[in-house]
Amino acid sequence: MISHVLPTYNRAPIAFEKGEGAWAIATDGSRYLDLGSGIAVNVLGHTNPDLVAALTEQAGKIWHVSNLYQIPQQERLADLLVEHTFADTAFITNSGTEAAELAIKMVRKYWHDRDQDRIEILTFEGAFHGRSTGAIAASGSEKMTKGFGPLMPGFRTLPWGDLDALRSAISDRTAAVMLEPVQGEGGIRPLPDADLRDIRALCDQYGALLVLDEVQCGMGRTGRLFAHEYAGIAPDIMMVAKGIGGGFPLGAVLATEKAAAGMVAGTHGSTYGGNPLACAVGARVMEIVANDAFLAEVNRKAALFRQRLEGLVAAHPDVFEAVRGQGLMLGLKCKVAPTDVVKAGYAQHLLTVPAADNTLRLLPPLNITDDEIAEAVARLDRAAASLA
Ligand SMILES: *Cc1c(COP(=O)(O)O)cnc(C)c1O
Repeated sequence: MISHVLPTYNRAPIAFEKGEGAWAIATDGSRYLDLGSGIAVNVLGHTNPDLVAALTEQAGKIWHVSNLYQIPQQERLADLLVEHTFADTAFITNSGTEAAELAIKMVRKYWHDRDQDRIEILTFEGAFHGRSTGAIAASGSEKMTKGFGPLMPGFRTLPWGDLDALRSAISDRTAAVMLEPVQGEGGIRPLPDADLRDIRALCDQYGALLVLDEVQCGMGRTGRLFAHEYAGIAPDIMMVAKGIGGGFPLGAVLATEKAAAGMVAGTHGSTYGGNPLACAVGARVMEIVANDAFLAEVNRKAALFRQRLEGLVAAHPDVFEAVRGQGLMLGLKCKVAPTDVVKAGYAQHLLTVPAADNTLRLLPPLNITDDEIAEAVARLDRAAASLA
């Protein structure tokens, strides 16, 4: 008989009932060190007092009103997003998938309004933009699309990081190029800064829009507020989600005025998107994370963590191959199945997340302490030893 919860996930037999910072406490009372953060979501750890205060304060005032009215909390969040990024405007969503859908609509509307027959969006293998019909078409992944056809047309998938393939595919018929500056689900694969600059230049040369998906790599995860800042370029449109709500469902599409010009009243909407409760939390997350001192700490801890992980790889050459990633978006390329390392981690009361390309993902809260990093490496060391 089918389970009452639609069985689309292979779940570990653990349930958590409490969280404190980098720790998730299971129903049997045991404490797990959480290097998954709900997949890059809990950027400030579990039950962060500032976020609990923002949420409960707002919960006692008003939760939901329609976008038929002014929503000051939404305006505050949009102000912060515009102030700290390339963007001139933001639409608030409830998830990354919804952000991807709007980004695609925005691209199409942009070219429609210019009377130009440009519908092709170039994407890359290993991409993940969500699970909607549009987002799976954008991924081009057999695993995600099989059985769900006919797929939404208008996407062409190129080999990851293959600039030559992009050079031959892009033309004055290209609507946009869409990619994650650091692939998350694809296996913590950062695109070199020089390549991102080349992609921006190619988009400029052919007039195509550049859409960046920073749902996983954004919100301070790489040590800059957004990963593309390292390359010194800016997109035309960007998707944000995961970390922006610190655990509350929230996402956003950021755009330049030019890219967003077609999205006039009536072209898009959301019942829940931009509600006061979510935006009150999101604004607090932005106030904390979009801060030079906070991001400097992320970078300091990332360097410490990375150095220890290099030692771990050297100590377990049969289990691990290399460390990769940027900031606190770290991956361990494995020689064994990453799911086996995840399982061995559970036995050490450590939470990690597998990814494609035989990679184990380490996505700790950005405010993890130095002691917790040392503890995480000790537990990873024991987990790896148990596999030998
Ligand atoms: C998780 C993710 C999404 C989808 O976000 P949801 O909130 O799960 O809909 C899109 N893009 C990237 C890069 C992601 O990591």
